[in-house]
Amino acid sequence: MSDTLEALRPTIARPLSGRVALITGSTSGIGLGVAETLASQGAAVVLNGFGEAESILRTRDRLADEHSVEVVYSGADLSDPKAIGEMMAYARDVLGPVDILVNNAGIQHVAPIGEFPAAKWDAIIAINLSSAFHTIRAVLPEMVERRFGRIINVASAHGLVASPFKSAYVAAKHGVVGLTKTVALEAATSGVTCNAICPGYVYTPLVEKQIQEQARAHRIPEERVVSDILLQSQPNKKFATVEEIGALAAFLCGAGADSITGAALAVDGGWTAH
Ligand code: NAD
Repeated sequence: MSDTLEALRPTIARPLSGRVALITGSTSGIGLGVAETLASQGAAVVLNGFGEAESILRTRDRLADEHSVEVVYSGADLSDPKAIGEMMAYARDVLGPVDILVNNAGIQHVAPIGEFPAAKWDAIIAINLSSAFHTIRAVLPEMVERRFGRIINVASAHGLVASPFKSAYVAAKHGVVGLTKTVALEAATSGVTCNAICPGYVYTPLVEKQIQEQARAHRIPEERVVSDILLQSQPNKKFATVEEIGALAAFLCGAGADSITGAALAVDGGWTAH
């Protein structure tokens, strides 16, 4: 291998070296999968989310050791705009300007609209939708000034189509897709892209909880909830994986995705092709 190629090797293997990525809701599931992939490509990472303190710190230290990158954690509650502001300031203070923002934190509640608790509606809109407005608002001006930025919003197949009993979630996720398009247009000539990833069912703690709840509600075994209810909508009849979502997020962060902006990219085994 020539000296030039040898010198380029670390950049090729770790294309996100020198980048700072903040991933909301990254203590578990999809967010953790995305954090893992971005760290493996060299990005310094800000983790966020809830969970058991010791386990979060173990995750933070493991990511830093395995991928030789800086990893810090903010426990900001994304239903609180003030806490979001503090998290964004903390990220900038300790790691520098955020190059990659992944809005991923989310919660779910399933109930007919007449029985849907108003407090659950408010929480889902705040965490799944408004938090993305607050984080984007905090980083976009500086991304534009620096002529580089990647904003990835983890929406859902439910950002493109609806299902009954998920009014707040479907409304929030459609909102996230709309926000994504607006930000993409506002930033279109600035070197900043903004896209939504729209997963179908991915096997994570969020879905595991739904499987248990639905098995109890319908009085059927959990395997039947998976085959007859969840994967009923997903034509390829299998869960997507957090690694697949991480790989797409990493691709969107690279130069190969410079012209992809304002897109809602389905990772749903064909669900929204119906
Ligand atoms: P998960 O429950 O495993 O992870 C959710 C993360 O959000 C956790 O880190 C949790 O601590 C964090 N979080 C929740 N409330 C928070 C708050 N108030 N402040 C800060 N962090 C908070 O869920 P997941 O399945 O990995 O979901 C991640 C995202 O992907 C969500 O936006 C979800 O809607 C979306 N999604 C998931 C699926 C799926 O099938 N799992 C499908 C489509 C979209």
